Amino acid sequence: MEKRILHASRLRQLPPYLFVEIDRLKLEAVERGMDIIDLGVGDPDLPTPPHIVKRMAEAAADPRHHRYPSYEGLLAFRRAAAEWYRDRFGVVFDPAREVLTLIGSKEGIGHIPLAFIDPGDTVLVPDPGYPVYQAATVLAGGTPHSLPLYPSNGFLPDLESIPLDVLRKTKMLFLNYPNNPTAAVAHMEFFVQAVDFARRHQLILCHDAAYSEIAFDGFRPQSLLEVEGAKEVAIEYHSLSKTYNMTGWRIGFAVGNAEILAGLGKVKTNLDSGVFEAIQLAGIEALRGPQDCVAAHCKVYQERRDVLVEGLNGIGWNVPKPQASFYVWIPVLPGYTSTNLVKRLLGEAGIVTTPGVGFGQHGEGFIRAALTVPVARIREAVERVGTLNF
Ligand SMILES: *Cc1c(COP(=O)(O)O)cnc(C)c1O
Repeated sequence: MEKRILHASRLRQLPPYLFVEIDRLKLEAVERGMDIIDLGVGDPDLPTPPHIVKRMAEAAADPRHHRYPSYEGLLAFRRAAAEWYRDRFGVVFDPAREVLTLIGSKEGIGHIPLAFIDPGDTVLVPDPGYPVYQAATVLAGGTPHSLPLYPSNGFLPDLESIPLDVLRKTKMLFLNYPNNPTAAVAHMEFFVQAVDFARRHQLILCHDAAYSEIAFDGFRPQSLLEVEGAKEVAIEYHSLSKTYNMTGWRIGFAVGNAEILAGLGKVKTNLDSGVFEAIQLAGIEALRGPQDCVAAHCKVYQERRDVLVEGLNGIGWNVPKPQASFYVWIPVLPGYTSTNLVKRLLGEAGIVTTPGVGFGQHGEGFIRAALTVPVARIREAVERVGTLNF
């Protein structure tokens, strides 16, 4: 029996889940009756805008949408995505070949190494980073190679420092700006360098732009595909999850190089059966409908950001203000590791945050707070931190 249920080696190779102990401490605090302020999860607390929900309800009632959807997504959805990209970034894609509908961008990130990575191939993954890049690489039999993100470099990787013997085996590079967990942003100059680097070393460049629409103080993140020639080597992931508060709906898309998308599409054809058409129609409504909801969401996050960052800095912390994403990447206080600080905030103040080391060894020295609770609760969190003796 035991032999039969032993996990496959690819599963055993996945890094241990570092949040197990934090989850346990959170549960304990709840059981003690503690009032928990959860800044741990990157999941918007605001509802999906009503016009999107309404479209879904209508479409769900229509039996024409009850059958299997097409694998690559309704052409109408891919057209809406292409038009949205054109209007937002000034880049034009052929909806039939250069846009692929995804069951959330995580699905497309998780599946792409299966299309291109053989055992022995290396994939460059940001550290700290969204854990899926590394996990997907390992599940495909590939070897992840960490790209350290340092504050001194604005949390951009130093691509030119990657050893040549690593690059010879490397086939794919993941980047993610605005970044989770560091909240860093990349400017055009870096995207130009990254595309040039990918071309010189013949890498498939996958840019995760899940937070492209969540930005503050008038800042507008750019697309990596705005770089001339980027389409020859790159795809970009976009998600409706964070932009329209649709994390539970599972819809996103990838745009860019047609051959890369065809590879991803081939994996998907064999593993999933696409996105429920009613959700795709709601997605069209999200992309084509009024966009003032997006600005309204950003305004809410911006106020929360200001209360948290200014509040903590007011009691002697040293927290930079992020320009984008809904995370604040907080340097730990002297004498603490990220895990120790997270435990103290949870145990003594009921505040849940995420230790930076959970996103990779170079995340040590920071904790992540998600701005996904009402501003009054953030104010309360700052007050509680103020009562702790640091
Ligand atoms: C939330 C998130 C995603 C995944 O979003 P989906 O809901 O799967 O579209 C992808 N990348 C990053 C960095 C994220 O934080």
